[in-house]
Amino acid sequence: MPARYASAVSAAPYRVPSPQTEADPYTVAWANIRRRRRLAWLSYLAFLPVGGLTMATVEWLFGDGAGVVAGIAPFGWILFTTASFMSSRCPHCGKPFFHTWRLRNPFSRKCMHCGIAMGTPKSDT
Ligand SMILES: [Zn+2]
Repeated sequence: MPARYASAVSAAPYRVPSPQTEADPYTVAWANIRRRRRLAWLSYLAFLPVGGLTMATVEWLFGDGAGVVAGIAPFGWILFTTASFMSSRCPHCGKPFFHTWRLRNPFSRKCMHCGIAMGTPKSDT
């Protein structure tokens, strides 16, 4: 039976592992900030259905007033994720990325202090 290819498909360079490269520290920091921001927005979106369902279930199980106490946990989760997201630090200047001492912008795509755009690798600075 004749071979379909001139050389074996599994021959080099396919079997040579790619060289390990060090991750750009800014890229890691941007991914961390994006993850925190995504978690905070998902918390906002999920608050009404999850918080409402939790409150209604607890209210149904334990009676009047218990649902309000159960609603504290989802609200506390929102406070936690928002604080975590808004306190993210810029990898370039080390200051808070989304706020200055008087301005807050959770939609900002640039550092509120040094102006570096989110996603900029360290090699471009
Ligand atoms: Zn900065």
